[in-house]
Amino acid sequence: MPEREFIGPEAILAKKQRYLIPCAYHFYKDPPQIVRGQGIYLYDSTGKRYMDLYCGVSVHALGHCHPEMTEAICRQVRTLQHTTTIYLTEPIVNLAERLAGVLPGKLCRTFFCCSGSEANEGAALLATLYTGRNEFLAFQNGLHGRTKLGMSLTGLAFWRTDPHPVGGITHVPPPYCRCCPFGRTYGSCRFECVGAVESAILTATSGKPAAMFVEPIQGNGGVMVPPPEYYPKLREVLDKYKMLLIADEVQTGFGRTGRMFAMEHWNVVPDIVTGGKALGGGTPVGFFSTTDQIAASYTRAGASTFGGNPVTAQAGLKFLEILQRESLVARSAATGERLKNRLKELAGMYDIISDVRGLGLMVGVEIIGREPLSAADCTDRILENMKDAGYLLGKTGPGRNVVTWMPPLMIGEEELIEAVEAFEKVLRTIR
Ligand code: PMP
Repeated sequence: MPEREFIGPEAILAKKQRYLIPCAYHFYKDPPQIVRGQGIYLYDSTGKRYMDLYCGVSVHALGHCHPEMTEAICRQVRTLQHTTTIYLTEPIVNLAERLAGVLPGKLCRTFFCCSGSEANEGAALLATLYTGRNEFLAFQNGLHGRTKLGMSLTGLAFWRTDPHPVGGITHVPPPYCRCCPFGRTYGSCRFECVGAVESAILTATSGKPAAMFVEPIQGNGGVMVPPPEYYPKLREVLDKYKMLLIADEVQTGFGRTGRMFAMEHWNVVPDIVTGGKALGGGTPVGFFSTTDQIAASYTRAGASTFGGNPVTAQAGLKFLEILQRESLVARSAATGERLKNRLKELAGMYDIISDVRGLGLMVGVEIIGREPLSAADCTDRILENMKDAGYLLGKTGPGRNVVTWMPPLMIGEEELIEAVEAFEKVLRTIR
């Protein structure tokens, strides 16, 4: 397909520098101008094709511009785009009903907004309304958004820009068995990581925090998967102090980890789930969902101008229909396992990889430094070389040294094998 005239990366960078707030951050030394997406591929202004293995940070579960999805969105755009929730429209209630069918446990009531950050803000408000309390616990290395409260809940230095974070938030160490912050070994430990939560409640709060925010698997924290016992034990502690458990499934939700919601891996039902990203199929979406009982505490008027608007709600409905019809959640589990195993093989061959972890199609490859390059520099080099070879990957972790794979859930086995081969070639050049 002939590409139309584009202004090109240099002109975009110049305008970005001139007109965007300087915090707007991008990957790559020579970033391409992305102009088109189709399926698992993105195309730049020169016509070069990239396999998108990061999905706009866990968004395009169905790939780019899925024809049915695009059709559903366009049909709605042509019919009715926006009214706000002060008028009755159908897609928002249908999507809430549909969500109630896939959410775990008794979670059945939803508030729609436009981003993950906003979803977490709303969840915090709801927890305060329900419990009458105002303090929160969250994980070190967690990420919950870039709003004032979302950023304060975030425990990653890289994303904590605010010099005056909101008070009343205590960060506790996440479970990380490979490098246990308590110097223990999984199998012989006493879950000191769970004990640390109780001791934080008793020593760093009033003793009555409203809730604890968790990312079931930390995404930006470097794809950190807790041991199987962690969440059931955490739940016991939170129950003891009558605290709510808020699972931020913004990144992990909708099949990314091989379950509809990641908390299902441990059979723990949160009191509030927050989500966004994938549900909108590329349209901006956020939501928080809870039980009848907790929802009953939020009765004063609440409105989001765009939350649950007909276009996004229609996109969400079509997304869930395709996700389930094509069994993409199970597929994510199976394909993800094979991807992880293949990457683990590479870890055995290339000592620049210190760990491979993840669940479903959320896999992190931890990179170690290679003199004179730091671990983060090596990771950057890998990402740059992969981009040049036509593959887009992510990077996460407190040290920015975890190459992160979050491809579309519909990606084929062959394409993944091809991508892993390209990855191996790049690793050889770093050797
Ligand atoms: N929570 C998690 C776990 C996230 O990964 C993100 C974004 N990366 C957010 C919240 C914030 O979402 P948004 O950018 O849509 O505000």
